[in-house]
Amino acid sequence: MRMNPTRLIGDFTELVLIDSPSFSERQIGDYIKSKLSALGLRVFEDGAGQMLGGNCGNIFGFLDGTINAASLLFSAHMDTVEPSRGKTAVIDRDGTIRSRGDTVLGADDFSGIAAILEALTIIREYNLPHRPLEVLFTVAEEIYCQGISRFNFQNLKAKDAFVLDLTGPVGTAAYKAPAIITFTVEVIGISSHAGFEPERGVNAIAAASEAIKALPLGRLDHETTLNIGIIKGGLATNIVPDKCIVKGETRSYSGEKALNCIELVEREFQKAAQRFGASYSFTNKIVCSAYETPLHHPILGLFKKACADIQLGCNLVKTFGGSDNNTLFENGITGLVLASAMEKVHSCQEYTTTDELCRIAELTLQLMTIDPNDL
Ligand SMILES: [Zn+2]
Repeated sequence: MRMNPTRLIGDFTELVLIDSPSFSERQIGDYIKSKLSALGLRVFEDGAGQMLGGNCGNIFGFLDGTINAASLLFSAHMDTVEPSRGKTAVIDRDGTIRSRGDTVLGADDFSGIAAILEALTIIREYNLPHRPLEVLFTVAEEIYCQGISRFNFQNLKAKDAFVLDLTGPVGTAAYKAPAIITFTVEVIGISSHAGFEPERGVNAIAAASEAIKALPLGRLDHETTLNIGIIKGGLATNIVPDKCIVKGETRSYSGEKALNCIELVEREFQKAAQRFGASYSFTNKIVCSAYETPLHHPILGLFKKACADIQLGCNLVKTFGGSDNNTLFENGITGLVLASAMEKVHSCQEYTTTDELCRIAELTLQLMTIDPNDL
């Protein structure tokens, strides 16, 4: 193994110490920039930070290849979910790496970052032949992929990509992901005193409730879900509320079904508002488009060869989560999302292991160094 586990684990635990909640990725951005520069990459930062009100932009870099082949992109996100401040990595004797229990670990997505940096380090250390490489480290991925949505894809040449951002044993890759559409409904009624003149009021909460009750929430079919996740309204128990705000999302492997679902939600709110004499406003946002990488695409051949080379079982899966890969697809880049040594993400029980970290770094190295002309 060319991997240096001591260096890799050391770098990972160093990363964990960095606070990097969404929109505050400055410190990790600077860390990555200096590492990439030292490894000989040309490094850039875009203006996504300013556009989003964060303190750091997307970081991207290029390394000329020594193998005559098309560029290949590797990507991971720099932000972590909360609670994340003051993270510390604790390494158990069996190789499990976890937080102290009061924060996330940040393996989502620092394990991906550590693996990409380690692979690039080994390429330089051993002077290994490699493809032309592009790397992209994004901000604000955890807030519905906002960072990458501000990225100018003219910057990249690569048409194939690996996004390191998935749970499951290393060797797992997602080739299919859903469309995700969020929505906000504001129901406007008329306020009045609930005891003195309730007849004059139009209860916005009651109207919203009727609409919600009419909606089929949960799993609508084998590939579609609908959820109401937030409801807010009312000022006091003795006031008929004139405002109720409802937020939710739908996701589906079929973009059309997701859009139909959004139409259904609006229709139910329209009907209920009408019945109550209320009005409403409805907005929605497509936060991810659905994608499916064709199973005959060359990127799958590359992935399978890399897994076989390092005796790793490979497993292709569908995911029901969005990732930066959805946005790559929208911009003409075909990618796979790789399981990258993270488990129980978005919780204080999040963990990784030293073995899995080594495996994802080894797999990343393999993907970077295989000559696709030999496939
Ligand atoms: Zn992630």
